[in-house]
Amino acid sequence: MVRLVDNLEAVGDAIRADEGRDPLYVGTTARQRPNATRFSEMRERLETSDDPHCLVFGTGWGLAGELLEQLDFVLEPVAGPSDYNHLSVRAAVAIILDRLRGNRKTP
Ligand code: SAM
Repeated sequence: MVRLVDNLEAVGDAIRADEGRDPLYVGTTARQRPNATRFSEMRERLETSDDPHCLVFGTGWGLAGELLEQLDFVLEPVAGPSDYNHLSVRAAVAIILDRLRGNRKTP
């Protein structure tokens, strides 16, 4: 299901209407930041917490630094073998969703 709204505040309103409480916001960025949350840590959190979590992705220039400061968590960046790690948002969404929620059970 996809619902389009105008801004992050409206996203929060929609989640609050569905879940009865505010979400925790989880930012993403290609840049290294101090105190970034490890994927493994967020994966465990999502598996054990009842709180709604809202993943936030940027567009061309990424999320503004002031916005990232206000979010509850900022994930560590997806990194490869070289220094260049600026992915298209669709590639970042796919990789991050797999890291956070992908099935890790062997058949
Ligand atoms: N220069 C921007 C930055 O530093 O985030 C890249 C913007 S990228 C075109 C659009 C969005 O994709 C970013 O805001 C972020 O949500 C996601 N993204 C791109 N590369 C990423 C990476 N290596 N790790 C995590 N998220 C990434």
